Amino acid sequence: MSNNWKLETNCIQAGYTPGNGEPRMLPIIQSTTFKYDTSAQMGALFDLEASGYFYTRLANPTSDAVAAKICALEGGSAAMLTSSGQAANFFAVFNICSAGDHFVSASTIYGGTFNLFAVTMKRMGIEVTFVDPECSDEELEAAFRPNTKLVFGETIANPALNILDIERFAKVAHAHGVPLIIDNTFPTPVNCRPFEWGADIVTHSTTKYMDGHDCGVGGCIVDSGNFDWTAHADKFPGLTTPDESYHGVTYTERFGLGGAFITKCSAQLMRDFGCSPAPMNAFLLNLGLETLHTRMPVHCANALKLAQFLEGHEKISWVNYAGLPGNKYYERAQKYMPKGTCGVISFGVKGGREAAERFMAGLKLCMIATHVADAHTCVLHPASATHRQMNDAELEAAGVSADLVRLSVGIENGDDIVADVAQALELV
Ligand code: PLP
Repeated sequence: MSNNWKLETNCIQAGYTPGNGEPRMLPIIQSTTFKYDTSAQMGALFDLEASGYFYTRLANPTSDAVAAKICALEGGSAAMLTSSGQAANFFAVFNICSAGDHFVSASTIYGGTFNLFAVTMKRMGIEVTFVDPECSDEELEAAFRPNTKLVFGETIANPALNILDIERFAKVAHAHGVPLIIDNTFPTPVNCRPFEWGADIVTHSTTKYMDGHDCGVGGCIVDSGNFDWTAHADKFPGLTTPDESYHGVTYTERFGLGGAFITKCSAQLMRDFGCSPAPMNAFLLNLGLETLHTRMPVHCANALKLAQFLEGHEKISWVNYAGLPGNKYYERAQKYMPKGTCGVISFGVKGGREAAERFMAGLKLCMIATHVADAHTCVLHPASATHRQMNDAELEAAGVSADLVRLSVGIENGDDIVADVAQALELV
């Protein structure tokens, strides 16, 4: 699915090319089902012998066009949309992990993903070992077991905002014969393309910058096509041995290394779990993607301006933004995302929890919302919201202190955002 266009062109053009006299804009195929002239034609689809659509729970042309666009942006071989980022991460892991299997994950990940891995997937018989992303090589090695099937991490962790050393994690994963799955939600492919650093599968909560306008929950899974499942066939029988629920198809044989992972994921997991996006949401996501390359630099510039203002403020105890020289992750950010990281920053207001709450109550332009990464600036106190299911030790491991305020800088005028924060700090 790769082409020679630059990222900016792919944001606009990839995934859908209208034919003569056809709509210029991606059509919304708002249909549950698709009609065929003969049962044999439909049967070929059910056998995965022909490509085409028969039921939108499994696949839909509008969604597929948008998945193809994201695939081109990431430089992957195949991609699929899901109804949420949660579904994307669940599917990406469950596609190669079954009951009795194990995987390794960075401990600094989004709270919802942490809970999915630590609680819900554990109930399904899949175990995870969380590692501090800055752990020693020995500690990382020690996390692996004979039944380990993958390694997972976020490029920029939400909300800890640490930058993962993707190359290091990829190298260790590959030495153990397993793929590295990277949630690339925060930088987006505009700022970082994890496949270029050795990641094998990329996931997204498209709900964030990709949609960008706070209007549609969604997710995406992209395969690089680089991981050789057949070289470790015993670890990945779901991809390398016949699938009885699809008339004995062996995904790696029929669809090759570039298509096996995504075909299995859509054919089996979408069929059985049905976390498919509405075509209308896919259309809205496509609108967001068309301006992603123009919005990300503004998010980054505004976030840097605010981070610099906060860094020198007497009422602020600390600021965490990897775009700030002097930040612990600055050098790594320069390596993996030299154009900028993202618009999300975190900081502590002197006086802890109470001071942070007074500050938040004084904000006018910045809205209190359980959201990040869209055009509107918004602010959250994770310990009392997204991460409230975690105890203090888990919060610590996830890099979230009780006084942490997360501010997602939008694309309003940067001076207006700074002025709003400044007046709210005066009330503290
Ligand atoms: N991954 C990251 C990094 C996130 O920040 C989120 C949500 O905040 C998710 C995954 C889950 O995505 P969604 O809310 O679209 O299900």
